[in-house]
Amino acid sequence: MRTPLVIGNWKMHGTQAVARELAQAVRDGLKRPRGVEVVVCPPFTALPAVAEILKGAAVALGAQNCHWEAQGAFTGETSPAMLAELGCRWVLLGHSERRHAFRETDEEINRKVASAVRHGMRPVLCVGETDEERRQGLTFTVVEGQLRAGWAGLASEDLARCVLAYEPVWAIGTGVNATAGQAAEVHGYLRGLVSELASKELAQSVRILYGGSVKPDNAQALTQEPDIDGVLVGGASLQAQSFITIAKKSAARSGASKE
Ligand code: PEP
Repeated sequence: MRTPLVIGNWKMHGTQAVARELAQAVRDGLKRPRGVEVVVCPPFTALPAVAEILKGAAVALGAQNCHWEAQGAFTGETSPAMLAELGCRWVLLGHSERRHAFRETDEEINRKVASAVRHGMRPVLCVGETDEERRQGLTFTVVEGQLRAGWAGLASEDLARCVLAYEPVWAIGTGVNATAGQAAEVHGYLRGLVSELASKELAQSVRILYGGSVKPDNAQALTQEPDIDGVLVGGASLQAQSFITIAKKSAARSGASKE
């Protein structure tokens, strides 16, 4: 059973006041979301303020990144233990902006995924090809490499806590989303790979989200695909009403979760 999951990635946007206002509006607009689980990932500086607002709410808190160590001489970094202490139950890892702008390697991402699980959080491993890689027919090769490396060495009970997000780099922040068909093809490929890497059971239960220019008007078409279990939303999650509409449109039809 896979309940759709909708995650808002606020990236590096929002002072305390802006984050509070956005969190309040999302919380109030999604008081009892039916057939969908919702998470917001504010910038690190806004986590305590948003955690306070979301106390007891149906919307959960996530972080946008973490280090793999629990503590130490890592100037400027934030550990999973620190995030867990603030109430973060989720963490985005391997986002394409981290991979490309900050040169994060598959090995580092793998260490982060393992550490997030160890600290009781649920890692969302992001994978996706660039425009050039897609044109060269390398989409499956790229996402396969990122998934194999990102999950390397994890035990099956750890993998059961993990979520995947297919985020084609060419669709992030561009206004050009993958079509439902393009996304479904890659999601199907990833699900097959999970079956091979872990088990058929995990392939049936793991949630695979789509991310890349998701908006209120394309969310439903994407999430109606049987292999698309929700969405990871960047720009449109900064407008409370857009995000709330996306969450509602992604909810499982007639209250039924995907199997
Ligand atoms: C993202 O950054 O994860 C993302 C999907 O961004 P956007 O929705 O703005 O394309």
